[in-house]
Amino acid sequence: MPNRWRNVRATGKDPLLGTAAHRRNRKHWQRLRLPCAVRGRAIDYDGPNLINGRQNPRALVVGHIISRYEAMRMGWPESRINSLANTRPECRACSNKSGAQLGFKVQQANAKVKTGRTDRDRW
Ligand SMILES: [Zn+2]
Repeated sequence: MPNRWRNVRATGKDPLLGTAAHRRNRKHWQRLRLPCAVRGRAIDYDGPNLINGRQNPRALVVGHIISRYEAMRMGWPESRINSLANTRPECRACSNKSGAQLGFKVQQANAKVKTGRTDRDRW
């Protein structure tokens, strides 16, 4: 729902991450050890999350096939968003990339909504 997404944006924390379902999915993908679902490169399943204080670009990230943002807009319940069927293994590098793209799209959508007011303020 839009309200929850606003909360996510405000706090920078996603309430869907860190749940029991999320941990279960992560364990599942960790066991299967498949390559990254985005680019097919190997995932560093045993590696650390951080290397010298920087994110390990090959670390496992449990990605959502239908993004959480899209799923919430479609009114999916949390259980469906975080179901195993809606997740896939991704490496950190690909996950950050798709997240950044989604963030950009959301920003653009929000900018469109605000355009009228912004223009009046400016002109
Ligand atoms: Zn990848």
